[in-house]
Amino acid sequence: MDGEQVLWDDATVHVLTHALHYGTGVFEGIRAYRTGEGTQVFRLTDHMARLHRSAMAYHMDIGWPVEELNEATKELLRANELEAGYIRPIVFLELGAVGLNPANAKVRSAIVTWEWGAYLGEDGVQNGIRTKVSSWRRFPMDVFPNAKATGTYINSILAKVEAVRSGYDEAIMLNTDGLISEGSGENIFLMRDGIVYTPPVSAGCLDGITRASVMTLLREDGYTVVERTFHRSDLYYGDEMFLTGTAAEVTPVREVDDRPVGDGKPGPITRRAQALFADTVAGKLGTHPEWLEYV
Ligand code: PMP
Repeated sequence: MDGEQVLWDDATVHVLTHALHYGTGVFEGIRAYRTGEGTQVFRLTDHMARLHRSAMAYHMDIGWPVEELNEATKELLRANELEAGYIRPIVFLELGAVGLNPANAKVRSAIVTWEWGAYLGEDGVQNGIRTKVSSWRRFPMDVFPNAKATGTYINSILAKVEAVRSGYDEAIMLNTDGLISEGSGENIFLMRDGIVYTPPVSAGCLDGITRASVMTLLREDGYTVVERTFHRSDLYYGDEMFLTGTAAEVTPVREVDDRPVGDGKPGPITRRAQALFADTVAGKLGTHPEWLEYV
């Protein structure tokens, strides 16, 4: 926290923290994986660079260059003796004026690590999850879909809570034009007739690092991957569907709006994407050594 390693119980903030009142924080979600050559943090530099871009969007000066954030993350994993797990860097505005203008608010930063299994459940990874198109639209494009700001997640939380309370595992959000954007915390992929489709970033989805990795891995494996906008109804005619994210990794979707996706089981391209991603992060595939940042 702010450059020092502190114990869990001491990692506290004041109740007048600006970010607590107004959502003025930016964050990342990163995973560390066990490999044959020790722990690697997947695309750590890309995540920390995105943290910097998010901060820039909201006029926040992080004060720590990417390399120092990388090093602090590795030191933290070593100190916690964590061989694999989730990493949550957060940069937020603390005390200053209580008003909306954050000009005098102090910028604080923290990195937290813990063990975290499958975000959408182990059964979801194996058999696929049930999704529903949300009644909540993704914030309009001018609220930075590509900045991971704490405040904007209240939009995703409305969608997630609605889905879970209605008995589904995850929400799929449309953008303000009614086009498919993404899951509440994942990017979306749709397969039809052997072609892999995913909405472009201009559809208001986060420029996901797992999304980019899976697109590259599938292309290198011979698949055609197309960035194209699509509508809700297109989801019903897909042969396969999956979600990607650091937390969710590659999670198959077996149902959308109470309709089975394909035959209701994860299909071959989904299985292939899962295997390619799992082998990459475990250091077994070896085609992208630049993505694996060893602790
Ligand atoms: N969309 C949203 C809204 C997210 O919160 C996330 C998780 N960061 C993703 C997509 C997936 O992005 P990534 O693969 O970079 O984790």
